[in-house]
Amino acid sequence: MLVHRIQHNIPLAPLTTLRLGGCARWFLTCHTLDHLQQGLQFAKAHKIPWYVLGGGSNLIIADELFPGLVLHIQLLGIESIATACGQDQLLTVQAGEPWDEFVQFCVNHGFVGVECLSGIPGSIGATPIQNVGAYGQDVQQCIEKVFALDSHTLEPVVFTNTQCQFGYRTSRFKTIDSQRFIITQVQFRLSTHAPPCIAYPELAERLTQHPDYRPNTPITQQLQCIRDTVIAIRRGKSMVVRMDDPNSRSVGSFFINPIVDQASFTKLQTHHPSLSIPHFPTADGIKIPAAWLIEQAGFHKGYRYQNVKISDHHTLALVNDGGTTEQLLTLAQHIQQQVANQFEIQLTREPVLMPI
Ligand SMILES: Cc1cc2nc3c(=O)[nH]c(=O)nc-3n(C[C@H](O)[C@H](O)[C@H](O)COP(=O)(O)OP(=O)(O)OC[C@H]3O[C@@H](n4cnc5c(N)ncnc54)[C@H](O)[C@@H]3O)c2cc1C
Repeated sequence: MLVHRIQHNIPLAPLTTLRLGGCARWFLTCHTLDHLQQGLQFAKAHKIPWYVLGGGSNLIIADELFPGLVLHIQLLGIESIATACGQDQLLTVQAGEPWDEFVQFCVNHGFVGVECLSGIPGSIGATPIQNVGAYGQDVQQCIEKVFALDSHTLEPVVFTNTQCQFGYRTSRFKTIDSQRFIITQVQFRLSTHAPPCIAYPELAERLTQHPDYRPNTPITQQLQCIRDTVIAIRRGKSMVVRMDDPNSRSVGSFFINPIVDQASFTKLQTHHPSLSIPHFPTADGIKIPAAWLIEQAGFHKGYRYQNVKISDHHTLALVNDGGTTEQLLTLAQHIQQQVANQFEIQLTREPVLMPI
């Protein structure tokens, strides 16, 4: 039994990108499936709550003590299997591997499919939770299987891509099965032959300015140019976590872009005839940029509430500037309230709130 490895009263704020939150009464660094199973048994035996922590980049932790056990995922390793036809590469990656290091690994090896997701912080195991996405790609497009531990039975389980029930910034792991499965490995299927697909107009335009980018150069060079360009765009918006950029002390986008049906969109246009509402048709309805709604509701980049604020470089990012979780959530509520008052649209929070 690894009770001796369980630590007490560990501050959680340094383990998050927001640098917010109280301590965990119990804390276990998990390097193996066995550590996870024993951690869950410990929580069950002591009748305490447990919570999984990855890279802490999509998590808002309360200021108060978490009275349970935090399981910090540190399972490491990448295993690659070439498929029979030799055209795709299957890579099974342990949940604790840092996502962005995996993206660089794929770029170096000429594996196509995750290059537009460069610069996103966090761990591999968290990527299926909210179907991480950016610049025209999301992980749903390349996930083959998700391996997890069922906290109810303590048995390993495997989900196919379809079984994960992926949607826009969501999956079964964030909805119906929230807090049930601990993801231990993710298997990705990446192409070794298809050219990279650039679906996002801003990225396509910026890529033409990259001095080394030409469509007929070796695939690894093309992928590196895409990665460089994505990271450069993201840095301009403080969307890459850097110690020297106080605007990156965030969870990335705080709100999801709302998707409304045609009737609601028409009503919105009728109520606001003087506004040209930006909108994008999707398979699920009409997507309206949350950043535009927030700005129309009277907020601006750099808007401050006590010691938290809207990023100077991105209206969707809320930044900790020496504040507290309570202040951050109050600012988020103000924004939601104003947008609801003005447009009758309820903005949904993207990051997860750790329960106490
Ligand atoms: C500057 C910045 C930019 C960002 N840009 C993007 C972006 O472009 N696109 C995007 O989609 N996201 C973005 N994010 C959000 C975040 O990086 C991703 O959601 C990331 O996948 C979270 O990973 P994590 O390991 O840090 O998860 P954590 O924050 O540690 O956890 C998030 C949630 O997942 C759960 N979880 C974590 N690991 C596991 C596991 N192994 N098994 C079960 N549950 C688990 C946690 O319990 C929690 O509920 C950004 C964040 C920041 C700070």
